[in-house]
Amino acid sequence: MLIIMHTQSTDEQIENVKQKIRELNMTPHAIPGQLRCAIGITGNKGPVDSEFFKNLPGVVQCIPVTKSYKLVSREVRQEDTIIDLDGVKIGGKEITVIAGPCAVENEEQIFTIARKLSEMDVKLLRAGAFKPRTSPYSFQGLGEKGLQLLAQVREKTGMKIVTEAVDTDSLELVANYVDIIQIGARNMYNYSLLKKVGQLKKPVLLKRGLSATLEEFLMAAEYIVSEGNFNVILCERGIRTFSDFSRNTLDMNVIPTIKHLSHLPIIVDPSHACGDRKYVQALARGAIAAGADGIIVEVHHDPGQALSDGAQSLYPMQFKQLLEQVTEIGKISRN
Ligand code: PEP
Ligand code: MN
Repeated sequence: MLIIMHTQSTDEQIENVKQKIRELNMTPHAIPGQLRCAIGITGNKGPVDSEFFKNLPGVVQCIPVTKSYKLVSREVRQEDTIIDLDGVKIGGKEITVIAGPCAVENEEQIFTIARKLSEMDVKLLRAGAFKPRTSPYSFQGLGEKGLQLLAQVREKTGMKIVTEAVDTDSLELVANYVDIIQIGARNMYNYSLLKKVGQLKKPVLLKRGLSATLEEFLMAAEYIVSEGNFNVILCERGIRTFSDFSRNTLDMNVIPTIKHLSHLPIIVDPSHACGDRKYVQALARGAIAAGADGIIVEVHHDPGQALSDGAQSLYPMQFKQLLEQVTEIGKISRN
């Protein structure tokens, strides 16, 4: 159930509706909107009876929500969610480009790449400090030292930092250093981590699980939003299919479908989707043409020496070319 309040409803009327919801042992969620306030309800065991609310002062309409995911659905909020990080917007008119190496490897490496990207006017730097690797013997990331280096990069370049939190133990540490907390594909089903990240106010980049259905993906986002954090960016990063010629299969269908079903921004990670730098540009162009709000791309100045994901990391010049291409495509697809 979604309760739509009048454009001129008072704070008192909104609080009154929320109180009524609580009295019925359910949870109210005020949904941020440009024109008017809407109040979503969760925690109901069955259909909610609109009789309880429709005559309360300030209430315009009670709309049943048919989807299992509620707060992330367009039924509940029609306007696109735009995340604003001091003027760097995600989900707005412009496409968002997040770029950087798979991992922070050392001071020289991260500063070299960050400076090159910053010169290209990239505002958001990605790089893992805690790396979830398939093999326990592979490079696991620099941990807190990596976060400290990222903080230095932010100070020197002004770039915003996107990095992954791999567990609840290190979440607070990561949150203290970064601007956007990445939840990786392997953790999309980690509900205790999703709840914890939902209790923070920092924007979250939620990657789609390796074999997650659309509903599971949106439900994972619902875990975060239902804890009060509406600043969620969805990320399609390729799923496992029978197709065996690439690292994963980029699910292009999910882009317009999510745009239809949810108000959250969705970006695409072409690097992990294909695993090969030869194909990254083509997939990124396709993603923006299909309506994605942006891309997150791995870039390394010396991919041959990269400690992780070198094969899929673009050279800076390739990335520059891609940036020009997606900027042009974005002008068409976002109008
Ligand atoms: C990454 O972004 O480096 C990463 C590990 O991604 P994913 O969780 O999509 O595999
Ligand atoms: Mn990677």
